[in-house]
Amino acid sequence: MNKEMKCFGCGAIIQSENEKHIGYVPKSAINKDKILCQRCFQLKNYHKLQQTTLTKDDFLNCLQQIGEKDCLVVYMIDLFDYNGSLIQGLIRHIGHNDVLVLANKRDILPKSVKERKLEHWVRRQLKEEGIKPVDVIITSGKKHMNLDLIYDAIMTHRQNRDVYVVGVTNVGKSTFINALLKHYADVENQNLITVSEFPGTTLNLIEIPLDEKTSLYDTPGIINDSQMTHLLKPQDIKSVIPQSELRPMVFQLNSDQTLYFGGLARLDYCVGEQANFVAYFSKNLKIHRTKTQKADDLYNRHQALQYEIEGIEDITQMKSYEFQLPSGKCDIVISGLGFITISSHGGKIRMLVPPHISVLMREAII
Ligand code: GDP
Repeated sequence: MNKEMKCFGCGAIIQSENEKHIGYVPKSAINKDKILCQRCFQLKNYHKLQQTTLTKDDFLNCLQQIGEKDCLVVYMIDLFDYNGSLIQGLIRHIGHNDVLVLANKRDILPKSVKERKLEHWVRRQLKEEGIKPVDVIITSGKKHMNLDLIYDAIMTHRQNRDVYVVGVTNVGKSTFINALLKHYADVENQNLITVSEFPGTTLNLIEIPLDEKTSLYDTPGIINDSQMTHLLKPQDIKSVIPQSELRPMVFQLNSDQTLYFGGLARLDYCVGEQANFVAYFSKNLKIHRTKTQKADDLYNRHQALQYEIEGIEDITQMKSYEFQLPSGKCDIVISGLGFITISSHGGKIRMLVPPHISVLMREAII
């Protein structure tokens, strides 16, 4: 078999030896020029995810290799889950190279928020990470938003160098690259690279030639274990992870009141005067308000709570975090699930989330 043959969906090297490893295709199916590995084939046709054996180290090695090159790095982050989409230590890996930041999934945030405001917010956050981008562009790969602007920025800043698109899994890299291909290269739909809502579908570098000497590369994402996506049952992912504009839900809470976000997370307002809580989650996620005193019992009886997480049968198995609220506005973010903007005169809340899921307080984005 030709060792250089790659899956056009995920870029994995095609092999017929081990069904559990990436790039597997049964020998009998290797009869075309363009081959889709079994994993991508199943994902595309049956929406089924096969487990693979690619490790986190493989992802990090890939970044390190980018760091050794003189190139333009296009760093995609997710506006909906900004912190969850950061690559830890990116600057250490990519060193001296220019970074163009694309802030994706703008379509999920309410339309009323101005692009300028989002851009400034992203720039402030990046500064805290020590990242000095050549530019920040707000986009939605899904809606082809600002695609011309991005294309021009890439062409301007790459200065005849290769371009590497990096980002954690699920940030929307494949969708974005497909949009670029569709827009500028007239690539037919069946040859587009694999896009899915399952984390970790892009496995190896996918090369897209820009001219005779240089290329744009889609890189594998770094899996971020602290995102809610990784704990959900595959059939629940699509309804829990927002696909379209978030529906803000406003709650005036007094202390000792609780909000449940499906059965996936809980907020207790422990101390403080009446305050304003605006929840930004998927339209499908039911938010249930109750008295804190009754909240454990409610969860344990599984009433009105959707989307269970395997291994969690009792509320005490959730992890608890306390936050002191500042006077004014702040966001509490549950990685990959949504966020709550709280306007208060100060106070204390407690968040309950499944173990390993990150929950943090940040400057309000809206
Ligand atoms: P990758 O792992 O970074 O390559 O991400 P994918 O391109 O496979 O996208 C992951 C999930 O995010 C899929 O469910 C996409 O439909 C979704 N997605 C990608 N881009 C956007 C976007 O601009 N807006 C929204 N709402 N969803 C997006």
